[in-house]
Amino acid sequence: MDDSREMALEEIFGNYVSWKLDEVTWIISFMNGSEYIYLLEGEEKALLLDTGYGIGHLRNLVERLTRKPVIVANTHYHPDHSAGNAEWEEVLLSPGWPVDAPSLEGGRYPRDPSAWVYPDYRKTVVHDGDVIELGGRSIRVLEALPAHCNSSLFFVDEGHKMLFSGDEFESSQTLVYDNSCNPDAPYHVEKRIANLRSNAVRLREIAGEGWFVLPNHNGTPISRAYLDGYVALCDAIYAGTAQIEDKLNHRYIEMDPKAPELCRVRFGTCSIFIKKAEVLKVYGTKK
Ligand SMILES: [Zn+2]
Repeated sequence: MDDSREMALEEIFGNYVSWKLDEVTWIISFMNGSEYIYLLEGEEKALLLDTGYGIGHLRNLVERLTRKPVIVANTHYHPDHSAGNAEWEEVLLSPGWPVDAPSLEGGRYPRDPSAWVYPDYRKTVVHDGDVIELGGRSIRVLEALPAHCNSSLFFVDEGHKMLFSGDEFESSQTLVYDNSCNPDAPYHVEKRIANLRSNAVRLREIAGEGWFVLPNHNGTPISRAYLDGYVALCDAIYAGTAQIEDKLNHRYIEMDPKAPELCRVRFGTCSIFIKKAEVLKVYGTKK
């Protein structure tokens, strides 16, 4: 990577923009507007979902948006969601975080350790069904089955009909190839596709009429109909009716050394990136 590209990436990733979704919910956007961090305020505390790439002083911004004590949690342990954790004393994480931990060191991305006051921050594991009480606002934690990665949590805000889906479901594409940078991490394509489907089925039962899905990339909030779309996509993979495209049409993923092995699998409004050789193992197996 040459210096000019480092500079360009730093400019994109480090530029936070924030706005209110409602009176008690902030969206903090970065990566040129394509990635999001969420700040949910209750009467007593606030919850920060993700900490970005660790560029600049995110905490300064967060503490300007809310005066409440801030609880920090990660939707999953990937560098663009958790590399800024060390600005806080404690972060709530999924039990699977150690499996994806090498991804924080495995990629080259801009970061600024000058803001990392707590390099040995406390990692507190939360479990399916745990509730984070913010005062008049309760956020339920769900553990995702491994699909995008091994460390995803979903956050359910029943009162505001908001479902925070991390990188497991979004409007453009879910990445379903192994991205842990961990040679010992398990990856079975049969399980990944089945898990993607099971997660979508579980979430669409929670997110009824009037709910929105809030992912971390490529548009937010999005329709709950995407959850139906992902179920249909998985079924179309099994049926052999999903479209397999060699052209990814994604600027950043195309820079990844894995890119030549990947394909986009599309059905209706939803798509995934996955290794072509892997998806062909399940494609058309349940006609
Ligand atoms: Zn991710």
